[in-house]
Amino acid sequence: MTEVRYLAPHTLDEAVSALAAANGTGRILAGGTDLLVQMKAGMVSPGVIVDVKKITEMTTVEEKAGRFRIGAAVSGAVLGEHAALRTAWPGVVEAINLIGSKQIQGRASAGGNLCNASPAADSVPALVAADAVVTVQGPKGRREVPVEKIHAGPGRTTLERGEIVVSFTLPARPAGSSDAYLRLIPRTEMDIAVVGCGVSLTMQGGTCVAARVGLGAVAPTVLLVDAAAKALVGSRLDDKALEAAAAACRAACKPIDDKRGTIVYRTKIAGVLLKRATAIAADRAGGR
Ligand SMILES: Cc1cc2nc3c(=O)[nH]c(=O)nc-3n(C[C@H](O)[C@H](O)[C@H](O)COP(=O)(O)OP(=O)(O)OC[C@H]3O[C@@H](n4cnc5c(N)ncnc54)[C@H](O)[C@@H]3O)c2cc1C
Repeated sequence: MTEVRYLAPHTLDEAVSALAAANGTGRILAGGTDLLVQMKAGMVSPGVIVDVKKITEMTTVEEKAGRFRIGAAVSGAVLGEHAALRTAWPGVVEAINLIGSKQIQGRASAGGNLCNASPAADSVPALVAADAVVTVQGPKGRREVPVEKIHAGPGRTTLERGEIVVSFTLPARPAGSSDAYLRLIPRTEMDIAVVGCGVSLTMQGGTCVAARVGLGAVAPTVLLVDAAAKALVGSRLDDKALEAAAAACRAACKPIDDKRGTIVYRTKIAGVLLKRATAIAADRAGGR
C-alpha cells in the first residue's frame, strides 16, 4: 500500500506551499465526502493530502455592506444555520443543503462540490445564478474568477496546478431580489440531480429587472443561460416570458442519456424547473 502524507496547515500560504512541494501528487481535503469515496474506490491515490479545514479564511462566513464572503471549506450545516445568508440567498443555501444527508452536511463544502466538477453538483447552478465570484490562490498568487468559469468538463476544472479555491463572494443585492434552486431526482433524497436549476432575480413594481439562470446536469459543465435571463428581464413573468425562458433553457441543454434520465426527459425538465424556480424566487422577492 502506498504511503499518504496528511497535512493540516493553519494558513493558506502553507497549504499552497505543501501542494507545490507535492509535485502534482497533492490533493486538497475539505469535507472528504467525494475525495475519500474516490480514494476507497481506487479512482485517485494522492501522495499528500492537504486538509484545509483549519484555515480561518476558508472556514468562515463574513458579511460586509451586503456582500457575503463564504469560505470554500465551510460545511453545508454551518451555512444552513447562517440566518443572514439564508435571508439574502435562500436559493444558494437550499442548494447546498440538498447535498447528501445530515452526516454529509456536517462535512461537505461548496468548494468541494465545485472542485469535484460534477455537472450535477447541486450548489453550482445556484452559485452561478447568484453571480458568485471565486477567489483562488496558488503559486502565482491570487485571482478572482466567475464561478461558471471553473468547470472544464466532468471531473475537470480550469484551476491550475497547486491552486486552491479560497472563498465565494456573493454580491450585495437591491431590494426586491431573491433566488431559488430546484432539482429533480429519481428518489426523494440522497440522489444525483437529473436536472438542477438555479434562478436569481430582482423585481421592481412587478417587473423583473435583473435575472441570472444556472442549469446543472444537462451538459458537461454547469451552464449560465443568458438567453433565459434575457427572456425574463423586462417582463412581468407572464406565461409568454416564462415559456420563452424555458425554451432558452431547453435550447441550451446538451445532456447525456443515462439510467437517471434520457436526453428528451432532461431537456423537457430543464424548462419545467426554470418556470418553477422563477416563480419561487419571484415570490421570495415579494415581487408578484
Ligand atoms: C452519500 C453521499 C451523498 C451525496 N449527495 C450529493 C448530492 O445530493 N448533491 C451533490 O451535489 N453532491 C453529493 N455528494 C457529493 C459530495 O458530498 C459533494 O460534492 C460535496 O459538496 C463535496 O464537498 P467536500 O467538502 O466533501 O469535498 P472533498 O471530498 O473534500 O473534495 C472534493 C474534490 O474537490 C477538491 N477540493 C476540495 N476543496 C477544494 C478547494 N477549496 N480548492 C481546490 N480543490 C478542492 C478535492 O481535492 C477533491 O478533488 C454526495 C456524496 C455522498 C458520499
